[in-house]
Amino acid sequence: MDLVLEWLVIVVAIGIGWWLGRLQRKTQVHVEAAPRKHRYPKAFHYLFDAYDSPTLDSFIQTLPVNRDTIHLHLALANYFRRKGEIEKSTSIHQSLLSHPEAKSTFSDRITFELAQDYMAAGLYDRAESLFLELSLSREWKESAVDRLLEIYEHEKDWGIARDKALVLDLKRNRKTQVRVAHYCCEMAERALRRQDLGEARHLLKEALGYDRYSVRVSLLTARLLMLQEAWDEALTELKRLEQQDALFLVEAIPLIQEACAKLSDPQKRLRILQRIWGLQPSSRTMVALALAIAEASGNNNEAIEFLLGQLDEHPTLGGVRALLTLLMPFAESEPQRWIQIIKGVLDSLLEKSQAYCCTQCGFAGRHLHWQCPSCKSWSTIKPVPWS
Ligand SMILES: [Zn+2]
Repeated sequence: MDLVLEWLVIVVAIGIGWWLGRLQRKTQVHVEAAPRKHRYPKAFHYLFDAYDSPTLDSFIQTLPVNRDTIHLHLALANYFRRKGEIEKSTSIHQSLLSHPEAKSTFSDRITFELAQDYMAAGLYDRAESLFLELSLSREWKESAVDRLLEIYEHEKDWGIARDKALVLDLKRNRKTQVRVAHYCCEMAERALRRQDLGEARHLLKEALGYDRYSVRVSLLTARLLMLQEAWDEALTELKRLEQQDALFLVEAIPLIQEACAKLSDPQKRLRILQRIWGLQPSSRTMVALALAIAEASGNNNEAIEFLLGQLDEHPTLGGVRALLTLLMPFAESEPQRWIQIIKGVLDSLLEKSQAYCCTQCGFAGRHLHWQCPSCKSWSTIKPVPWS
C-alpha cells in the first residue's frame, strides 16, 4: 500500500474521531449515549473497507486511547464484529476496559459492546452476566433487557423471559406487550401438551392482558375448550379472529371442522366456512368450502361448479387438487389412474409452496412461526391468502 495514502487515511480517521468526540461533548449532557441512539458514521465503514485486516490491525495498535479516539476504537471493533471477526472485536473491547481513561468515561458502552461480542460468539452465559449488570443502570436498562430477552428466547426460557420483560414499562411499548403475550402462549402450549388445563387457562388469560388482539391466544383458547369438549364455546372463541386479524381465520379451519364434526352439524360447518369465505377469501378456505358444499349437498356437482367458477379467478394448486378429488368419482378407471398421478405431482408442488410470509423481512415458509426465524420479530408472519 502507498505509504502516503496510508498516513492520509490515519489522519482522516483520527480527525473524524476527534470531530465526533467534540460534537458529542457539545450536545450531550451525559457522558455515555444509549446504544440505539448511537450510530457509527457510514464513512467509517467505507474507510475500513478500503484496507485489509493486517493494515487495520496495525492501525488499531498504533492508535492511542483517549477521549478523542475512543469512538474510532469502538467503530473498528464494531466493524470487525459485523465481518464475523469476533475475536478481534472482543480483544479491542477487553483492551479498552483495561485502559483507565476509557473505563472511567465509557465503561457501560464498552461493556455493552463486549457483551454483544459474546452473544455473536454464542457465549450466552458471559453475555447474560454482563447484560444483567447493565440492566441495573437506568440509562442502559432498556437495551440490556432487550438483549437479555434475545438470550432467553434463544434458550426457550419463556418464564425467565417474561419476568425479565416485566421490569420494563410495558404501557409505553406495544412491541414488548406482544412479545410478553407470546411468552405466555409458549408456556400455555407446554401446559396443554402435558394436559395441565388449569395452568394453560391461567397463562392464556395473562397473555390476553398483555395483548387483547392476540390471534394466538384465541386459537389456543379454542384448543383448550375443545380438550374440555366445549365445542360451541370453541367456535365462539374462534369467531374473535374476525376482529383480531381476518387473515388468521384460515388457521381456525381445522378446529372448526373438528368441532362441527363432533357436533355432527355439517350445515353449521358450511355456514361458518361461507362466512369466512366472504370475509377473507383464500386458497385453503376455497378448498375447505368446496369439500363442505359436497358433504352438505350429498353430491359433488355443486362443489365442482363452485370450484370451476373460483379457479377462473384464482388458479391455485390446492384448488385444482380439490377439483380433481371431486371429479374422481365421475372418471373411468384409466382416467382415475391419471388423476392419481397428477394429484401426486400437485402434492409435491404444494409441499414446496410458501403459505406464510414475514411482513417485516420478507421471510417466506411453509409453516406458521409466531417468531420469524429470520428477523426474530414476533407476530410479523402472516398467512398468504393465495399461495
Ligand atoms: Zn422476519
